[in-house]
Amino acid sequence: MSDNPKTIEDKLGLLAYRSDEKSHITVDQEKFKADPVKAILYACPAKVYVEDPQTGECIVNYENCVECGTCHVVAPDYVNWFYPEGGKGVHYKMG
Ligand code: SF4
Repeated sequence: MSDNPKTIEDKLGLLAYRSDEKSHITVDQEKFKADPVKAILYACPAKVYVEDPQTGECIVNYENCVECGTCHVVAPDYVNWFYPEGGKGVHYKMG
């Protein structure tokens, strides 16, 4: 990684995480499966949501969440998102 990060992956690499043992995000799997667009798979900058190719369910890699709130806007019907408990989650080192 260079000193001047250019890609999203470079920028995500500057963050520190203090993961909680339980997820601060839940997904209603039936509504996810019924959604023909599944925009959260593409809108989340940290790629938290991944569709399981075998079950069609949404895998939630909550440890990578950068708390941007995009999924709240894109899929309010089936993503239930809260901030992690105090002191947990992402920690921004720059800015
Ligand atoms: Fe992804 Fe942002 Fe939602 Fe976290 S808050 S899961 S980073 S879209």
